[in-house]
Amino acid sequence: MESIFDHDRHPIIISGPCSAESEEQLYDTAKELIGSCSISAFRAGIWKPRTRPNSFEGRGAIALPWMQRIKEEFKVPITVEVANAQHVEHALKHDVDILWIGARTTVNPFSVQEIADALKGTKVPVMIKNPMFPDLSLWIGAIERIYQAGTYKIAAIHRGFTAHKDAPFRNIPKWEIPIELQRLFPDLDIICDPSHIAGNRQLIKSVSQFALDLSFRGLMIESHIHPETALSDAKQQVVPSDLKTILASLKHKRSPLRNGELLMIEQLRSSIDDIDMQLIDIIYERLQLIKEVGRIKSKSDLPVLQLKRWKKILETRTAIGAEKGLSTEFVKDLLELIHKESVRVQIEDESIYT
Ligand code: PEP
Ligand code: MN
Repeated sequence: MESIFDHDRHPIIISGPCSAESEEQLYDTAKELIGSCSISAFRAGIWKPRTRPNSFEGRGAIALPWMQRIKEEFKVPITVEVANAQHVEHALKHDVDILWIGARTTVNPFSVQEIADALKGTKVPVMIKNPMFPDLSLWIGAIERIYQAGTYKIAAIHRGFTAHKDAPFRNIPKWEIPIELQRLFPDLDIICDPSHIAGNRQLIKSVSQFALDLSFRGLMIESHIHPETALSDAKQQVVPSDLKTILASLKHKRSPLRNGELLMIEQLRSSIDDIDMQLIDIIYERLQLIKEVGRIKSKSDLPVLQLKRWKKILETRTAIGAEKGLSTEFVKDLLELIHKESVRVQIEDESIYT
């Protein structure tokens, strides 16, 4: 895998409107944006995948010359979303520098393969958004399909995963998924899209900062000259001057660490390693006791799941955790995981309980 972007720039900033709505809107946005922020690519949706029909579905191929004009006039690479072979063909005809595959397309291996086939022999860089739902294999599968088509300049975009209506985010970040992707593919650039994670302007700054704290390679942030009147994603787009303020406020993380810091961190890490060993020993011992209880239950024809006991475990442990300042949700998740394994080891056919 190769990097799409210039090595000296950190973080990479990709910005532009959610959708190309008119030549004027696109041009005015680009002018303001490029005048105030240093961006590595200008984005706009030309074909918009909308959840419901009869909403604005993008201007289509007629917007591509508008993008080309921006590329030529402002000397900035341009990027658009593609969802099928025809989109790829149109985009390449109009000198689009980077393509991206949207979250609704990444879920569908047929569509990703169609795009991969259309890309063969082109070498145009591709950014691949995570699928709508938290399935890391599907994300990796899409990356592999594009790679196998001979496209080695690839980046991943983390835009979060479908959330419940009342969640604070439009799309839940589930940071552990891009972190695992980075662990598996250390050379892959991962770019965070705080606009689609947040779904509102207010949260963009904190999501962006968090992504930089996790060493993401860059940010894709939607900007619009008049966000309130935007035909798609109006609540989450920012005016270019606000983007400038957001970017100026972000603290960039240095890496690698300096020697003294490294030493202190190494000492702490060694203590953490010891604690992890103890944790595993303790969990092992707990499971041995559970198995003993399981044998007695089985001999006495008692059901494995004892709801009253489980309720009590949850109540007492979360209360003790809370006294120590541990979040109730975290202790509950941890106990649920341990309990699940405890039930599993007590049943005869362990494969049933997943
Ligand atoms: C977009 O970038 O405007 C878009 C449609 O994003 P996603 O595929 O992440 O929903
Ligand atoms: Mn959008």
